[in-house]
Amino acid sequence: MDKVDYLKVFREIVAEMDGADDCGEVATYIPELANVDPNKLGMHLTTVSNDNYSLGDSDEKFSIQSIAKVWSLTLVLKILGKETWKRLGVEPSGNAFNSLVQLEYEKGIPRNPFINAGAIVICDMLVSLLEVPKVDLLNFIRKSSGIESIDYSPGIAESEIQTGHRNYALANLMKDFGNIHNDIGTVLDLYFNLCSIELTCKELAQAFLFLASKGVNPFNNETVISPRRTKRINSIMLMCGFYDEAGEFAFRTGLPGKSGVGGGIVAIHPGEFCIAVFSPKLNKRGNSYKGMKVLEGVTTKTNSSIF
Ligand code: GLN
Repeated sequence: MDKVDYLKVFREIVAEMDGADDCGEVATYIPELANVDPNKLGMHLTTVSNDNYSLGDSDEKFSIQSIAKVWSLTLVLKILGKETWKRLGVEPSGNAFNSLVQLEYEKGIPRNPFINAGAIVICDMLVSLLEVPKVDLLNFIRKSSGIESIDYSPGIAESEIQTGHRNYALANLMKDFGNIHNDIGTVLDLYFNLCSIELTCKELAQAFLFLASKGVNPFNNETVISPRRTKRINSIMLMCGFYDEAGEFAFRTGLPGKSGVGGGIVAIHPGEFCIAVFSPKLNKRGNSYKGMKVLEGVTTKTNSSIF
């Protein structure tokens, strides 16, 4: 089969968006996000056989925020297996990523590992499971991605700690229901550091390629997780990766994906590729406006999705 010229596809999509499409707002809750140039637009696609296609600001580092929640889930699943699901679910929330309401009437059990409450429970599990949680999680991220230079960004983490009142509220509510076992400050320190990681589109596409290749990272042949659990992670990304817009993303793109409020999106085509897009202006649901457009364009123009 002929190789798809994804660069040509990227160029077409960008040309079509040019001028016509400039919606959304950059996240402003911390200065590190508010000060990002709103006009940045980068994309990078890596195939499982290591063909690479990039356009625009694909080598620009940005705050990956909630995209990093894929790693924390992967590590907990690797260690705990199905025990993980005693304390959180795998259902779409249909609510904002930081909503408190559902958590109250569902007695402190988050709907899934990607809304903030779910990611905080996952961090609580990691605090219990790992010897030196911050160091061990970072080592796992470096090893699984094959990118040794990945690090937390102390400035971003500190800003998040200073402004993350709602995340403290979520953690306190869950602690009251008995679903947070460790000290809230320690758990949220891990959570905010996880969210603080900065990467380029190119690095992201490499880091999550294991999800397109049955759990093995083709860059360093590292077995990150089993094929069965790779299936589960992709399924949760498809159903829950975009919070209360997960249905819309699946409908438009037809791929599992995960977004972050830094304006990044990673999407997986199992057996084919991993793609990362960065455009900081967010829609009302906190997902990158242009990022979603680019991914919809890629699967529509190449007539390929998981469906
Ligand atoms: N750090 C952000 C928060 O905790 C992450 C949210 C996101 O990227 N959706 O609110």
